[in-house]
Amino acid sequence: MRKIIIYLFLIILSVFLIPILFTMQFNISNINVANANDVNAEQSPIVEQASPEIQEYNYKEYGTIKLFHEKTGEVEELEIDKYLYGVVSAEMPAYFGLEALKAQAIVARTYTIYKIINNQGKHEGADICDNSACCQAWITKEDRLARWEEDVREDYWNRIVTAVDSTAGKIITYEGKPINAFFHSNSGGATEVPLNVWGGSGYPYLQVVQTVGEDAYSQYNSEVELTKAEVIEKIKAVHSEIEIDFSQENAIQILERTESGRIRTVKFGNVNLSGVEARTIFGLRSANFTVEILEEKIKFAVIGYGHGVGMSQTGADALAKQGSNCEDIIKHFYVGVEIIDI
Ligand SMILES: [Zn+2]
Repeated sequence: MRKIIIYLFLIILSVFLIPILFTMQFNISNINVANANDVNAEQSPIVEQASPEIQEYNYKEYGTIKLFHEKTGEVEELEIDKYLYGVVSAEMPAYFGLEALKAQAIVARTYTIYKIINNQGKHEGADICDNSACCQAWITKEDRLARWEEDVREDYWNRIVTAVDSTAGKIITYEGKPINAFFHSNSGGATEVPLNVWGGSGYPYLQVVQTVGEDAYSQYNSEVELTKAEVIEKIKAVHSEIEIDFSQENAIQILERTESGRIRTVKFGNVNLSGVEARTIFGLRSANFTVEILEEKIKFAVIGYGHGVGMSQTGADALAKQGSNCEDIIKHFYVGVEIIDI
């Protein structure tokens, strides 16, 4: 009787358990293969392979992110969409149109995954940091809530969560790869190509596009006034050879603008500056400006806010208010892209 039970047990073992073990082994080796492909990040496998297993794998691969906190030096591992609550709420006003917030969520998710794939090793032991000048702004839920008035707190937070959750898994691709999803505050009506800001070769999806309605935002117009001595001092810090006589008619001359209307070259006395350089030197909100020599001062009248490349956040809100949905908004600012679900 005991022997029969042992035989039965062995039969059950061979019929059920051994195939299960083989299947597990097979799955594990499958994952390893996918992992090895992914290390070769230049050729992102996200959409190049249409098989559902690979897509599911990638969703899991990017399920969490290691965030480097610049102030404390700590690395925190977060679920990607929870991380995105902190990004969207740090990067865009919560009272913007919901479709604009959704566009920002998709842009931020794309930017995050682009960073994971392309910037490995930049932050030791982490994928991304919380410094907007380096990677992408991020704020804790507690800090975010504390900065909102109590009566709007719950509504604002729910809008952020809705924007991220309703676009879960969505990213922007061009020719099958996640795009470098640049964004800025206000384009002044036309975006800029990256070549005119940072040089190098361009990205085909980042072109000059016009957006109506950006002039309704406080980020559209700004002014900077500096004394003549301050202007000379600021240029001198970079170009010691500066010589300028403000009484001369052509003391300051805009020589050329880019196709988007930003300054390509402006001449101060004997020195030529690029618009981007002038923006940095004089602390202007953008490279789209006019200069006026006043009696005592030099006045810069500036249009737009930020480098002008990719999605304009106020432009996104303007489009949302004109009835565009988040996909329309993204395809307006990033030319020829697809929005895929990973
Ligand atoms: Zn960083």
